[in-house]
Amino acid sequence: MSFVSSRQQSRHIAINREERYFERPTDSNGNYQRVTDYYGEYIFHFADAQEIPASIKEELEQAVADGAVISREHAEVVAKAVTEWAIKKGATHFCHWFQPLTGSTAEKHDAFLDFADKEQPIETLSASQLIQGEPDASSFPNGGSRSTFEARGYTAWDLTSPMFLKEGANGMTLCIPTAFVSYHGEALDIKTPLLRSVSALNKEGTRFMHLCGEKDVKKVSVTCGAEQEYFLVDKNFYFERPDLVMSGRTLFGAPSSRNQQLDDHYFGAIPERVMAFMEELDLELHRLGIPAKTRHNEVAPGQFELAQIFRDANTAADNNQMVMAMIEDIARRHNFVALLHEKPFAGINGSGKHLNWSMATDTGINLLGPGKEVHQNSRFLAFTSIVIEAVKRHSKMLRVAVSSQGNDHRLGANEAPPSIISVFTGSTIGSILEAIKDGKEFTPEGDITLDLGANQLASLPKDNTDRNRTSPFAFTGNKFEFRAVGSSHAIGFPLTILNGAVASVLKESNDILEEMIKGGESVDKALLKLSEKWMKSSWNVIFNGDGYSEEWVKEAEKRGLPNLKTTADALPIMMDTQETAYLTDLGIYRRGEIETRYNVLIERYCTLREIEFTTLIDLVHQYVVPAAIKFKKEIADVVLAQKELKVESTVEMDVYKKVNLMLESLYEDTRNLANMVKTLPENEEERAKEIANSLMPLSEQIAKFIGEVEVHMPNEQWPLPSYFDMLFLR
Ligand code: ADP
Ligand code: MG
Repeated sequence: MSFVSSRQQSRHIAINREERYFERPTDSNGNYQRVTDYYGEYIFHFADAQEIPASIKEELEQAVADGAVISREHAEVVAKAVTEWAIKKGATHFCHWFQPLTGSTAEKHDAFLDFADKEQPIETLSASQLIQGEPDASSFPNGGSRSTFEARGYTAWDLTSPMFLKEGANGMTLCIPTAFVSYHGEALDIKTPLLRSVSALNKEGTRFMHLCGEKDVKKVSVTCGAEQEYFLVDKNFYFERPDLVMSGRTLFGAPSSRNQQLDDHYFGAIPERVMAFMEELDLELHRLGIPAKTRHNEVAPGQFELAQIFRDANTAADNNQMVMAMIEDIARRHNFVALLHEKPFAGINGSGKHLNWSMATDTGINLLGPGKEVHQNSRFLAFTSIVIEAVKRHSKMLRVAVSSQGNDHRLGANEAPPSIISVFTGSTIGSILEAIKDGKEFTPEGDITLDLGANQLASLPKDNTDRNRTSPFAFTGNKFEFRAVGSSHAIGFPLTILNGAVASVLKESNDILEEMIKGGESVDKALLKLSEKWMKSSWNVIFNGDGYSEEWVKEAEKRGLPNLKTTADALPIMMDTQETAYLTDLGIYRRGEIETRYNVLIERYCTLREIEFTTLIDLVHQYVVPAAIKFKKEIADVVLAQKELKVESTVEMDVYKKVNLMLESLYEDTRNLANMVKTLPENEEERAKEIANSLMPLSEQIAKFIGEVEVHMPNEQWPLPSYFDMLFLR
């Protein structure tokens, strides 16, 4: 078959690809293995390793609990055990796996191979290689926090997260999850502050439970489950769209005639080729001990979601990094490219990551679970009020935590939680909290019986307004859902900011509770008074209406809620020491660590946007203008021919003029954009503002004009894969 263009060829290939089959694991009788047989077969956790004696496990558990240093001999035992295990599974190399401030993961591989005496080859991983690594920190973003002479950085084994095997096409690597710190102990990664925030919450959470009378609680952990959204496009289309390759999103594109108006994709059957991909993805994730649970289509065509079962925040954060990497890797095996960008296509839904968040005790109590007894309910309401107060107080930093150039297209756009941080409670819990705020007695009100004594909360009907998707922070029955997080984000950062916010209000609450209980107040009464206090101060942040509406923006302004529209507006909050004091007070970040992150984030914002602008400018010159000129020439030829034939050229002239006008406008705008890129201010903050407020709107106008040219051009002459190609052909 011959094709007039590579785009046409790609369409042919995309439609005719076969599903990829892979071998599902079988047992010795040839029967398919159960998921429980292979779940976690690629992870090694010291607690489950039979080769490690109980006494050493205890020491390691202790180290996990209080951060104590483990002895070298004992680390040696773990190193031996994991090496044997990994080599048996086919591993040849090991690496320290960490999360630098780029938001992705990094690894530096070493072979297990070493020499014993007389160049006798052996396989080994020493205790020190397990515990500590020394990657060259100067090649990772550090926000100017270190001068090059002290560019040494250390990776330190994170005992709390299991080691795992990463499969390459032809081998296996043992990955050791680590924290990444500088020579002076400054956190250079996302994990370290997360661990600190988890400890802070553990401390205050345990104290809270003790005050509530739950004296047997030894530990309170943060639970988290992320729902990951992504798009899949055929590999060929992807590589024919330089904007996708360079920036992860299409910088322009005419909407296809059917986008998501029918809402049929969400409920539709999963396309076969996609299903084959999901099956392989789930298998590989389960092998890695990542409990992938739900898979389905999302709202937009070509958009999908994966949700995993919740677990402790640190593991959940590591898991999500792996989930993103695996989605990308396995998509390629199926000749797809996965797009994790928050807004790969204009005009249809973007991708987010709902962070389901709660806290749980080692005795199995979910702090956000309404209970069956009075004291459980007062505790639940108090804790819920604490979280709401935390969101209200630290809403600006929570906005910072979800900012990025990609997410700017989502937040505030008409399909995603707005950049105004508010809390959705649902009407049932909302009415109860309102009664508490107003100091009302627990008497029946409306159709809700606010009689905590009669176990009403436990039997509350599940609120169907829980399905409100327009809120950035929603209570959903037994957890909160932080929905403003972007699909490409490393969740460790927003988790840290949220944990810190709650830990700070929880600490204050504990002090208040302690005073009240000392003063002879009953625990229930004290909890109630605390809830009343927080509800009075944070009532403003609760919003149960439509977060997408224009009215809400006005209403929020009246309420005095911040509306930090873009990343350029949000990031400078990090340099406001008042806004970040709670984080430094709790020891979650040092002041310098926050500055480091600010520098990295603002630089990233500017750089990524500048890449988008230069890519757009190139595409205009290399694709859009030549295609339009060629088309204009064709029309002109017809017009001239018709003139000779003495035939009117009304239609031709109309199309010609339209295309010509659009082309002139976009050419002019592109020239302006190019000049603006060249003259951007040096200062990063000013640069970011200029980008967000002037260059972005201009680039979007260019995109609109290009879209107009595209719809007026003959389909086969448009040189780039269209939205229709990328979203519907597979
Ligand atoms: P929904 O339908 O409200 O989104 P699901 O039951 O589908 O609720 O759960 C969505 C996500 O929330 C899953 O990842 C799930 O594991 C997680 N989740 C459930 N309970 C908790 C909890 N207590 N803490 C953190 N995450 C939770
Ligand atoms: Mg959900």
